[in-house]
Amino acid sequence: MFDLLIAGGTVVNAEGEARADLGIAGGRISAVLKPGEVVSARETLDVSGCHLLPGLVDAHAHLREPGLTHKEDFDSGTRAAALGGVTTVLDMPTDEPWTATPEQLQAKMASAGNRIHVDVGFQVALSQDLNLLDRLEALAPVSFELFTADVPPPFLFPTMDAVAAALRQFSDRKTMVGISPGDQSILMGSTERDRRGDVAAFLASRPPMSEAFGIARAVLAAAGADAGIHVRQINAALGVQTWSRLRDMADATVETTPQNLFFTADGYATPQGANLKASPPFRAQEDVDALREAVASGIIDIIATDHAPHSVAEKAARYSAFADIPGGMPGLQTLLQTMLRLVDQRLIGLADVVRMCSRNPATRFGLGRRKGAIAAGYDADLLVLARRQQSRIANAEQASRAGYTPFDGWTVGGRLDHVFLRGTQIVRQGILASPGQGLIVKRES
Ligand SMILES: [Zn+2]
Repeated sequence: MFDLLIAGGTVVNAEGEARADLGIAGGRISAVLKPGEVVSARETLDVSGCHLLPGLVDAHAHLREPGLTHKEDFDSGTRAAALGGVTTVLDMPTDEPWTATPEQLQAKMASAGNRIHVDVGFQVALSQDLNLLDRLEALAPVSFELFTADVPPPFLFPTMDAVAAALRQFSDRKTMVGISPGDQSILMGSTERDRRGDVAAFLASRPPMSEAFGIARAVLAAAGADAGIHVRQINAALGVQTWSRLRDMADATVETTPQNLFFTADGYATPQGANLKASPPFRAQEDVDALREAVASGIIDIIATDHAPHSVAEKAARYSAFADIPGGMPGLQTLLQTMLRLVDQRLIGLADVVRMCSRNPATRFGLGRRKGAIAAGYDADLLVLARRQQSRIANAEQASRAGYTPFDGWTVGGRLDHVFLRGTQIVRQGILASPGQGLIVKRES
């Protein structure tokens, strides 16, 4: 006897689509059944005409706790995630304070407690104190994060030597290292030469060359150390070229974000300019084109949001320099919808959405035996998507404290009707129906 039978849908996995019914028991998918197969279940949900996707796994989000809860907190951030079909959020460590010690990680886990509406995994920051690694890894974070530019000194690994030395600590570890590929020497040199802090100076301080060099350094250091790495947020044509040439040299994956597939630096001159500001900066149209081609050809492993909200007041304040505007924008609630836009544009198919936004992040971040697929034994994290309907993205409907979305006003093909988290329906027709169902997920050993 199943707790729930979900009947009549088309199941989408990374490998493709097939009609199937799903038997759910104990929070898991307990059987993938032939359409119409007669079974007994306490409850049946008819999803005829709809697609069923595994819940999305966002590999890159800043939920802003502790210390920055005026920007976002576990409640508002995971509410946005649930409404957007992201059933697992992998939270970054760059809060106040940064999450870098076992005590800080434990405190963060305890604080998330019953306040999360989707499952959350935690990433910790690598600091100069590499002696903490054993104790940190015992707490099973989903990744360690290494920064090569643009961060406070304790967390900065600005040279090839520093990156290589850190990665050597991971030769024998299962946990891999997320690397944000900036270049501190270019950032410092450029900022020193040009102190205007306007848009042009901001772009020059974080040019495509920074990203390309960061990718090369990360891959070479990983190859030398025999460590696994995940390169964060690339968006330049030069970065894509560098990645496509070097990626086979190491155990390495890469991500980009939805916003980088749609916006160029021209957006900074519009009234939305402050809301669009983030690092790395948006690039030129040829960069967007190269990135879209890389997504279509399959060399981008993961699309993650870099959900990084700020308060309305922080983005609306008057700053003397563009460079001073806090960088980052929300994205959790719109990840699925922006992917549907790419499907509408025939750049990718629904199976590619599952591959880049669910299966790959789940497997890469150590959750691949429970998340990222619709198959027997997996968590029943499910999205019921009415593809024949349309949905509209609107600022007024965003749950994030940011209070806006860069995609306001877009209409996309597909409407997310229901979201299940481990068998519990958490979203019904766009409303958070069962709050507080999230659990902390840990890297599988
Ligand atoms: Zn980020």
